[in-house]
Amino acid sequence: MPDLVSSIRERYLKTLDTISAAARKSNRSPESVRLVVVTKTQPLDVVKAVIEAGAKILGENYAEEAVEKILALKSQSSSFQSAVEWHMIGHVQSRKAQLAAEHFALFHSLDSLKLAQRVDRFAAQFGRRLPVLLEFNVGGEAGKHGWSASDESRWPDLLTDVNAIAALPNLEVRGLMTMPPLSMDPETARVYFRRLRRLRDFLAKRAPQAEWGELSMGTSSDYAAAVEEGATLVRVGQAILGPRPGYGD
Ligand SMILES: *Cc1c(COP(=O)(O)O)cnc(C)c1O
Repeated sequence: MPDLVSSIRERYLKTLDTISAAARKSNRSPESVRLVVVTKTQPLDVVKAVIEAGAKILGENYAEEAVEKILALKSQSSSFQSAVEWHMIGHVQSRKAQLAAEHFALFHSLDSLKLAQRVDRFAAQFGRRLPVLLEFNVGGEAGKHGWSASDESRWPDLLTDVNAIAALPNLEVRGLMTMPPLSMDPETARVYFRRLRRLRDFLAKRAPQAEWGELSMGTSSDYAAAVEEGATLVRVGQAILGPRPGYGD
């Protein structure tokens, strides 16, 4: 366990250093970027080690798995639980909307108006105003979640859903999220990060009633490029925790 904590801490701090260097390179303050450590499929022991290593934000993809971990930590030790905030970064099925509304500090991966309306209703029941990001599919891959946004000439079509979501009383739109096509080359991903940032500028101008400050983009293979292109949240798993156990991405 101490070995696990120290090896995670070392990679966590190294990741923070890389983020700082990338931020400075693009004349941004390192504090403008938050690191989300992605703990999906990682067991509770690893989650605890990540918290002990100093992580402030944990990201999970599967609502039920995440809530199990959150509740287990809460019952075992409130100091563990209160040391971190949990973010939902994966696709949430309609019937899991309640879990998203109840348990997370930020919902990165809101990907349809229908889901937004459901989450909004549950948020009201929990007396919360839930901060959300809207997920866009800027690479245009079939089967990927998020509003399709690869064709810039079609961006005006997005405004109907965006305005409807911005008007929901129990959600608070804070920005955008994307998961670009998988590539080993950060320069390939950079094209998509730039597109998401341009889409942000587009929406900020046309839907100024919402906040558009957050850009959630960049994973282990490309988070430095994402920061250079304006990311305010990077989602890093394997670079800090090593290869993931169990089921796939
Ligand atoms: C798994 C995942 C990540 C982290 O990927 P790593 O390669 O482990 O850094 C980030 N974002 C989303 C949406 C993911 O599903």
